[in-house]
Amino acid sequence: MTWKVIFFDLDGTLYHPEQGLWQAIGQRIERFLEQFLRVSPDQARALRYAYAQRYGTTLRGLQEEHGLDPWEYLTFIGQVPVERYLQPDPQLRALLESLSQPKWVLTNADAPYARRVLQTLGVEDVFQGILDIEALGWIPKPHREAFQRAWQRAGVRCPEKALLVDDLVRNVQGALKAGMGAVLVHPQRPTVPVPWIPRLEDLPLWMAEVRKHSPWKGATA
Ligand SMILES: [Mg+2]
Repeated sequence: MTWKVIFFDLDGTLYHPEQGLWQAIGQRIERFLEQFLRVSPDQARALRYAYAQRYGTTLRGLQEEHGLDPWEYLTFIGQVPVERYLQPDPQLRALLESLSQPKWVLTNADAPYARRVLQTLGVEDVFQGILDIEALGWIPKPHREAFQRAWQRAGVRCPEKALLVDDLVRNVQGALKAGMGAVLVHPQRPTVPVPWIPRLEDLPLWMAEVRKHSPWKGATA
């Protein structure tokens, strides 16, 4: 058994989480919460965490609880200066090109922002396309509906032969629960038993190992 299609998360997955961009986005998310809900920085931080846990993303929490227009939020967050934090990454490009499967970006962010990130990294044309939060019907990962929508959009007939690569444990768990393959890419070993690689560069080897030993579940941490 081999994977037929690979979905890559964007933030923290296609670039290293310590490159500063995700932290800058986090600051903008919290600033938006402060302004929109008129709360203190501490309250904004707590709300961001609570929304992420409960709804998958801050945006979804604001939509559910406050009927927020998503583009008001995304336009504000999207003003982050991507080019200040990222540069072209030929190694990433070579890695992605070495994988023969069709590749999609599957992100809870919006497509204009995702496109800027991919263009800055120099990998936009490697992907079939971007499945963003709007394409997911505003239902974020890790909800099952988000994965189902992604399979539909990418023409996936056998979800168990589709793989998600993501830096968030809850997204990996959600994908596995929905019936597809998934692997966590994160520098730190997770505290829960999910398939895990510390760096994206380890993906080809992990895929080869899974193929050899345990076609459906793969290695667990
Ligand atoms: Mg991510």
